[in-house]
Amino acid sequence: MKQKLIAGNWKMNGSLSANEALVRAVQAGAATGCQVAMCVPSVYLSQVQSLVAGSGIWLGAQDVSAHEQGAYTGEVSAAMLRDIGVRCCIVGHSERRQHHSESDALVAMKAKQALAASITPIVCIGETLAEREAGSTADVVRRQLAAVIHLNGHCISEIVLAYEPVWAIGTGKTASPEQAQQVHALLRAQLRAATVQADRVSIVYGGSMNAANAASLLAQPDIDGGLVGGASLKAADFLSIVAAARS
Ligand code: PEP
Repeated sequence: MKQKLIAGNWKMNGSLSANEALVRAVQAGAATGCQVAMCVPSVYLSQVQSLVAGSGIWLGAQDVSAHEQGAYTGEVSAAMLRDIGVRCCIVGHSERRQHHSESDALVAMKAKQALAASITPIVCIGETLAEREAGSTADVVRRQLAAVIHLNGHCISEIVLAYEPVWAIGTGKTASPEQAQQVHALLRAQLRAATVQADRVSIVYGGSMNAANAASLLAQPDIDGGLVGGASLKAADFLSIVAAARS
């Protein structure tokens, strides 16, 4: 059975001193039985790389360029991320789709760049509240995943998929375990149609996961972990989620 993955998304939070305290506290409390990742702002990747070295915690980035190298001012390539020890990278987070107009095609290109550099892309997909209320959740998430499968067909089993209903991110509203499982199951079916290795793919849930709701979400058969925003900034909360993933 594959280990569950709990990935913290720090978003645009942190400072040298706060990062060190947070990483040290998580390291002190985390144990084996669950894969932990910390996706940190790019300026802090080197710092956190030094802090997590040898601990088994994956160093994660929050974005990557869709291009290999060259005249793309301000962007960071997958090879550069790999160079400083990045093991996984969020792509297509809804905040980037919303604030930076990232399309399904661009997200698929970013996943491809990550895979080419041996970085596990954590591909985020999810519907808005309006889309859920219109009954189009399945269509939306299938379309978003299809773009990634289309461009990355033969290595699709190397990705991590994060189902993050947009209406649950940072809002305190969580999908119920049944709502989340329903979507995860249809994503698993879509992956099965694309690869015989679909069961290798971790499909993690994100959206206001916290110490109180993690266990019931993680008990669902197709929920293989969590992508955790707000609660990843508090060591005690993050460690409670990690503990729920190990039990
Ligand atoms: C996220 O940023 O991916 C996320 C799930 O945030 P939160 O846990 O704060 O809803």
